Amino acid sequence: MFNFLKPVRDYAQQAWQSSRYIGQGLSVTFDHMNRRPITVQYPYEKLIPSERYRGRIHFEFDKCISCEVCVRVCPINLPVVDWVFNKEYKKKELKHYSIDFGVCIFCGNCVELCPTNCLSFTEEYELCTYDRHELNHDNVAMGRVPYKVTEDPMVTPLRELVYLPEGVLDPHGVPNDAHRPGLMPSEILQQGVEDTSHTSI
Ligand code: SF4
Ligand code: SF4
Repeated sequence: MFNFLKPVRDYAQQAWQSSRYIGQGLSVTFDHMNRRPITVQYPYEKLIPSERYRGRIHFEFDKCISCEVCVRVCPINLPVVDWVFNKEYKKKELKHYSIDFGVCIFCGNCVELCPTNCLSFTEEYELCTYDRHELNHDNVAMGRVPYKVTEDPMVTPLRELVYLPEGVLDPHGVPNDAHRPGLMPSEILQQGVEDTSHTSI
């Protein structure tokens, strides 16, 4: 009998939902209007990359067994593993290893699946060169000690937004002991170890 009311009810529901979404969008806009711009004085100040940042890949020559898993899992078969078979020891012997970071898409497959963990991501993001061929790093370039923003005495490290305490937006002048919201990866790992030990008891 009241079927004619259904379109009116649907229309009212849709109008209410739309106004709610517009309100949500505008609340984000108004929130940003209250914020002041924050300038990072690069290169004297640098942001600390997040924990899972995929920077230049570090390579440990002595751990590599020349299995070429990294080549097979790479979407573009990028790593070059140059080895010879040592007849005396009946083992592969690595001669050279290289990855061209001008082509690499930093997907992380090689790092994840290397059986001996000789590949790892570093925090290095300053890979600019004038010639892209210089980005073809050999095992010596990839084996150099990784650079860390927090360990460079010439640089003031600033926390990224995810590291800042709740409600703080400016990384300048944040005390070192100010804790960010949530747990650090090391704390999550520690929690996992404690849980396992409780379960095994
Ligand atoms: S997967 Fe690891 S161990 Fe195997 S060749 Fe690549 S870097 Fe070496
Ligand atoms: S990070 Fe990805 S693209 Fe780069 S070498 Fe490893 S597997 Fe290949």
